[in-house]
Amino acid sequence: EECRKILKEEIKTFPDWPEKGVNFKDVQSILFNPELALVTSHYLQELLPKKDSNSFLFNKILCFDARGFLFGFDLAKASNTPMILARKHGKLPGEVVTQTFEKEYGLDEIQVQAGLINPGDKVLIHDDLLATGGTAGAAAEIILKCGAEIAGFNFIMDLSFLPGRKVLQKYVHDSKIQAL
Ligand code: IMP
Repeated sequence: EECRKILKEEIKTFPDWPEKGVNFKDVQSILFNPELALVTSHYLQELLPKKDSNSFLFNKILCFDARGFLFGFDLAKASNTPMILARKHGKLPGEVVTQTFEKEYGLDEIQVQAGLINPGDKVLIHDDLLATGGTAGAAAEIILKCGAEIAGFNFIMDLSFLPGRKVLQKYVHDSKIQAL
């Protein structure tokens, strides 16, 4: 609760960027404040779904290019789990698994290298921000395509006036969609 308040006060918003009507929340303002970055990382770790005091309810963590990589790596280290990079079309070498999803204007695509997610895996999804849920939903579809389970979602921020949380409830119980 305290962290949410600090984040709300400290995070810089750019009105009408990248397009009119969007109020862009900029993670740069967290990273530029080392204490805030540390607090953010700490509280994101506290949200990780746990089985007991020293084991987690997921065995892999999938993070989005590029702002999802920043704190995602901290979460991977804190939970001692393999980190999977999800990137835009054409950025990853080798065989990939692809998921197309709707953006406000047209289609977008995310990819993960083939073979990293397997049946039996429980994968946690992390990104900086939940907006419409299109991106995180596409990651959920990739996990299902690979025959694995979705362990939950972890975000720094949830723009709660947008339907992201509703979209993700199709994949997991609401309590597994966590944001600061
Ligand atoms: P969604 O797919 O509409 O939920 O949008 C989430 C994706 O877009 C994430 O990868 C975010 O990094 C990015 N995004 C959307 N809005 C913002 C914002 O206000 N600040 C930072 N990233 C954003």
